Amino acid sequence: MQIINPATEAVIASIETDAPEIILTLYQTARKSQPQWAKVPLKARIDAIRRFDALLEKNADDLATTLTSEMGKPIWQSHNELNGARARVQYFIENSEKWLGEEWMTTDEMLGEKISYEPLGVIGNISAWNYPYLVGVNVFIPALIAGNAVLYKPSEYTTLTGLKIEQLLHEAGIPADIFQVVTGGKEAGEAMLDLPLDGYFFTGSHKTGKYIYERVASKMVPCQMELGGKDPLYVTADNQNIEQVAIAAVEGAFYNGGQSCCAVERIYVHKDVYKPFVEAFIAESAKWKVGDPMLKDTMIGPLVRKEQVTFLQQQVGRSLLKGARIVFGEERWEGLGYFFIPTVVTDVNHTMRLMTEESFGPVIGIQKVKSDTEAVNLMLDTQYGLTAAVYSDNYSHAEPILAQMNTGTVYWNCCDRVSARLPWSGRKHSGLGSTLSYHGIRAFVKPKAYHLRGKYQR
Ligand code: NAD
Repeated sequence: MQIINPATEAVIASIETDAPEIILTLYQTARKSQPQWAKVPLKARIDAIRRFDALLEKNADDLATTLTSEMGKPIWQSHNELNGARARVQYFIENSEKWLGEEWMTTDEMLGEKISYEPLGVIGNISAWNYPYLVGVNVFIPALIAGNAVLYKPSEYTTLTGLKIEQLLHEAGIPADIFQVVTGGKEAGEAMLDLPLDGYFFTGSHKTGKYIYERVASKMVPCQMELGGKDPLYVTADNQNIEQVAIAAVEGAFYNGGQSCCAVERIYVHKDVYKPFVEAFIAESAKWKVGDPMLKDTMIGPLVRKEQVTFLQQQVGRSLLKGARIVFGEERWEGLGYFFIPTVVTDVNHTMRLMTEESFGPVIGIQKVKSDTEAVNLMLDTQYGLTAAVYSDNYSHAEPILAQMNTGTVYWNCCDRVSARLPWSGRKHSGLGSTLSYHGIRAFVKPKAYHLRGKYQR
């Protein structure tokens, strides 16, 4: 498999992919070693993760450069991602003991009832390329702390990053059999679906997620899905500082080139503030410099895949045929690299795919609405359910709108944000189950109920 730098189109590495028989061997060694790992005291497993965190800090420059060169994210955003991943790792270090320890529910003299939490066993983590450090640590860190073995398949677009993660985890003291990288694309993922794993944890598109969910259903093991979105942002009429709102919305739409699961993908603006909002949005968009992701002042790097450039051009092109207008970013990128100039489209509606289908790029549609009710109806008009944001000067105005959203996350005066303290979960086509918070710690264990009648020991 050739690893291509999407900014230069140069081949930067050539990697041997794992054939199904190799993946089976990886699984067998993991299966054999996992009970030993589960017996290592929880504190010692956490200590290994603490050493991993220190290694992330020590190797930050190398890790950020690797990610930027194979995936195209601006270098400062790669550093941000690493810092964000470290914050999550620290959350797991600090909170796992609390949520994985035994819980006594009754301690009557002759009747004890307790819950213990046992690891699932050997789990598979099939992952995405857009935030490999962030979405990776959401899964493999709590899984390892809980005593599981992990077969981790990074996306084929971030294989080098995945291999660096593996190297550092081993250096930190996670046994080689307990965390193993599977290299390859779809075929390697398919081979993992054939194994008798004890859980599947997937991050990626709805299309692949649905396929995997159906494919492993008969195994009757946990199957968690973190999938895509078409996340709305609504700007209410009562906003006084519309410029600030526009700056935040541009960041929500274009950070990481719009390739975030919770990127702002569609914007609704109340008619009373529509004109100044669109003007401020265009002015801010002009500041998002596109170019070499290794340069410190680049705001938008290339897309990861060449085909994605065509996909976005078609999505925008189709909306123009239905009456939409490009108000910023009409020109196309000339030269090498899979770049896409950020594009702002107005006069849009829900007959256009631009407003209903995940774009996953620096493209945004802005729709004018007459009322909160119209905005709410449009926000709810989607198969997805990841996040929804409302910008308003008054919480009492925003709160009833947030309450109506059928999404795992809602935001007031912020967007495109994830916190390790809160569950990260999608509804409908955006996913199943939660990572992060205590929900994302307990996701990697199974409870065992002890009913103890007689003289028991605590
Ligand atoms: P993708 O679905 O194309 O690929 C994801 C992973 O699945 C890759 O590792 C790929 O090799 C593997 N895969 C592909 N086909 C497979 C098959 N048949 N069997 C087994 N494995 C298979 O997604 P992507 O392009 O890597 O990621 C982008 C998507 O991920 C977007 O939709 C984005 O919104 C979503 N995402 C969601 C979250 C979240 O937290 N909800 C986070 C990041 C990304």
